[in-house]
Amino acid sequence: MSNSDPVLTDFEARGSSIAALIRELRRGVFPGCVLICGGPGMGKSALAEQLAQALLCEAPAPEQRPCGQCKGCKRVHDGTHPDLLTPAETKKKSIGVEEIRGILSALQSHALESDRRVVLLDDADRLTPQAQNSLLKNLEEHPPETHFILTTAYETRILNTIRSRVITVRLAPMAQEALTNWLQGRGLDEYAARESARLSDGSPGLALTLSADETDRSLRTLAYDTVFQLAEEEEIPGVEYKLKDLKDDFDRFLSILERELRLCMRGLDSPDMSIAWPEAYPARLARVLALVIEAEQQRASNVNTQAVLNVLLQTIVEETKKWRSS
Ligand SMILES: [Zn+2]
Repeated sequence: MSNSDPVLTDFEARGSSIAALIRELRRGVFPGCVLICGGPGMGKSALAEQLAQALLCEAPAPEQRPCGQCKGCKRVHDGTHPDLLTPAETKKKSIGVEEIRGILSALQSHALESDRRVVLLDDADRLTPQAQNSLLKNLEEHPPETHFILTTAYETRILNTIRSRVITVRLAPMAQEALTNWLQGRGLDEYAARESARLSDGSPGLALTLSADETDRSLRTLAYDTVFQLAEEEEIPGVEYKLKDLKDDFDRFLSILERELRLCMRGLDSPDMSIAWPEAYPARLARVLALVIEAEQQRASNVNTQAVLNVLLQTIVEETKKWRSS
């Protein structure tokens, strides 16, 4: 475990239902079944692991758990705790009924090392409907001191019959400032942390991925150096020249234009790059956004890159000219 791994207290600010769950856990109380919901990269697995550690930690007082240091905590982290039951192959696309029955049959015997057992089903939407159904009875009348922790990014793929039997908690996005600090704690410099936090809508996983994504960074810089500086028709050939080497990255470039326009419309401008158009307030940026989306649709129907780019640049110049004359 490294110093930068999230700890349970990091999750207290991620929603009132989670704060309440953690508060109860510190009093030694935890529900039989919990479903953790949140989009991709929001930290569901990290929270599930922290909760499993807290339940299987050997520290004497509940408020000290998880300590992160004891044998129990370490074995949960390594996935080797005998009282932590998970599907054998954690990355499998689909989890069938046999696998779940295997886990449930292990519940017939006593806990091995701890006085509790934790069944952890990460991305529980991977469970087939039959596998989900096979869980039902256990969720309702599970053996004492057994806790089910399920996570999902796709809540609606979990059967209603399951959802009605679990306590659901939802991971809210991280606040910009908190996410920036967290990224700096993971070794990013302040600028990179701020920029990644800005782009990732409060998702720590996405922020980390983006911070390591050189292509994203260079395409972003290119967008601000070219399209977002465009003012006059005479400048179009120059911009086309600068973008001539995009080739396979062209569609990604369009999606970055789209993302940046949406962020600017929300007031989340880049800290050191700016759109050069005068009075580019949200309603106007929305017009340019519509042009970018149109270009993306053209690309989806295989119109060639050069043609799409040329029309996009022409229409952007026309649009921004209107702003200057109004
Ligand atoms: Zn511990």
